Amino acid sequence: MCGVVGIIGGKEAPFWAARGLYALQHRGHDSCGIAFINDDADQLEIHSGKGAVADVLSHKVTDGAVSNACIAQNLYTTFGLGHSPQPFGGSFWDEDGSKHHVALVHNGQLCGVDRLRRKFPSMYRSQSDSEVIFALLPHMKGETMLERITQLVSELEGAFSLVFLTKEGLIAVRDPDGFRPLVLGRDQENDAYMLASEVNAFDMMEGHFERDIKPGEIVHISHSGKITIDHIPSKRENLSQCVFEHIYFARPDNQLFGKPGYSTQKRLGTETAKEVKGIMEADVVVPVPDSATIASLGFAKEIGLPLEMGILRHHFASRTFITRGQGNRERAVRLKFNIVKDVVKGKRVVLVDDSLVRSTTSRILIKMLRKSGAKEIHMVLFSPHIQYSCVYGINTPTREELIAYKFDADSKRIAKEIGADSVTYLTKEGLEKAMEPNAHDYCYACMDGNYPIDDKSSLSQSIS
Ligand code: SF4
Repeated sequence: MCGVVGIIGGKEAPFWAARGLYALQHRGHDSCGIAFINDDADQLEIHSGKGAVADVLSHKVTDGAVSNACIAQNLYTTFGLGHSPQPFGGSFWDEDGSKHHVALVHNGQLCGVDRLRRKFPSMYRSQSDSEVIFALLPHMKGETMLERITQLVSELEGAFSLVFLTKEGLIAVRDPDGFRPLVLGRDQENDAYMLASEVNAFDMMEGHFERDIKPGEIVHISHSGKITIDHIPSKRENLSQCVFEHIYFARPDNQLFGKPGYSTQKRLGTETAKEVKGIMEADVVVPVPDSATIASLGFAKEIGLPLEMGILRHHFASRTFITRGQGNRERAVRLKFNIVKDVVKGKRVVLVDDSLVRSTTSRILIKMLRKSGAKEIHMVLFSPHIQYSCVYGINTPTREELIAYKFDADSKRIAKEIGADSVTYLTKEGLEKAMEPNAHDYCYACMDGNYPIDDKSSLSQSIS
């Protein structure tokens, strides 16, 4: 899972792209980068590095960088595919001597990467599936870069929301299954078009949301603002939009897959409360900030208990789920949270969180709550058991690391393991109710094992 941004129009595209990327920092902080074509020098410039946007894309990079089009990405490294900052890009020459500049940013994860590497041999420098996309371009035929990219994306399978930077303009592509989001925005004052993984990036870029890039769409935006659209044919009846984007990743100040982020998260909490109403006895609902805060509003209202912010978060600490190494993750959790003792002391606490993946955060929070005097701790998750690895761009680890897989989705054993008095999960049926009216257009593979793409080679990377 990553955050991608594109902008075309105006003179300060790198400055605005960096601002949009800053708004998407929550989608990845392993590395980030930016690419633009320096029109005067006829050169493609790429600046990238490890770390957060504010550290890597300093004013030195973006101030004074005059360019009409720019792409940018925040990287969160996907399981097993190495760590290569994006954008990927470079120049290549055709046999007739014509020179092309191309760069791309990718959110998602391809299936069948080995098949592509065999079919299109090249000097691959990394394990990254995104590099494979870039390396395929010279193999494609076509008069224009748009024709080549249209041919290229029909070769791809899996999750890909892509933005290409070319001399012909920006080209946005979303896979026909619609796994990852990609949205189009506009800043009418400067006649600029914008692309981003999430709508909230447009607020930072002083633009507004126009529409989703539809699953399977190839949208070309020229330097003069002309838009042309082509399509990748779909092989499946339903879409496979990632339901985990709603549960964990996307910000609530957003419109995601056509649904308002805030009220969808609240509905997740409401459906969870409906399933435990009358069974659970407690004094106070405490959310794990920030990803469970909005859902907890719906949960507390439905169940009729007070909601209190019994856990506070230090906002300069990073998201633990996307931090590598168990030791690092544990230290990160302790740095990240603190308990408000007055809220939990002597109380039966319902601790609400989005999901249990490895359970690192919950285990430590429960210890901290007990130390602060909580009498009972009942953990409630507004997602079903995460029992399968994701192969479409979310770093849910090998099955052996998933606590629900380790304990056969037995909530009593899981509660004992993490030190809670009880653990309750939202059922798959409850989750589908929250996703109505188009619950069939979502992927739930990490919960039920029904992988929408039957590509055994990519599944074997994660599920042994
Ligand atoms: Fe999202 Fe899970 Fe499907 Fe991956 S497997 S795309 S995390 S719902």
